[in-house]
Amino acid sequence: MLQVDLRELSGGPANTPAELGAADPLFEGLGVVLAGPVRVGGRLHAAGEGRFYWQGSLRAQLAGECRRCLAPVPVTVAADIRALFTQDPDALDDPDCYPVARDATQIDLRPAVREELLLAVPRWVVCREDCAGLCPRCGQDLNAGPCGCPPAGDPRWQALAAFKGKPRD
Ligand SMILES: [Zn+2]
Ligand SMILES: [Zn+2]
Repeated sequence: MLQVDLRELSGGPANTPAELGAADPLFEGLGVVLAGPVRVGGRLHAAGEGRFYWQGSLRAQLAGECRRCLAPVPVTVAADIRALFTQDPDALDDPDCYPVARDATQIDLRPAVREELLLAVPRWVVCREDCAGLCPRCGQDLNAGPCGCPPAGDPRWQALAAFKGKPRD
């Protein structure tokens, strides 16, 4: 439950378990490909006048792609979330703070889930540390062995290209 009614919090912290589908509009435009639902946990506490503290967590599976050879790489993302939801406009310079309207009747945790997911996603992944990548000329996956292209800057490359383009007699 990621939209917590404020009346619930008057009786104590509220648990915030939720599962958001990979196609949830919340994740639109993030530039990540989710391979399954995003699982959210945590507790939301009232923390003084107009302040609400969320100790949350999220876990997701992404369909990543090796930056060198483009092979699919499953990526697990997990993050602990510490977010303050506040009605105090002066607190909002802090990136871990989220605004709450003065007349709000609920706290919507979803913006923090979106933000924290984006922060937790690795900027790029490789299928393995020593991935050899693709040949920039012929595109062969060099993890499967050398492709036979001459080394970069080798004049034979020009000759080979010309030879391969020649029709047979
Ligand atoms: Zn790779
Ligand atoms: Zn090649």
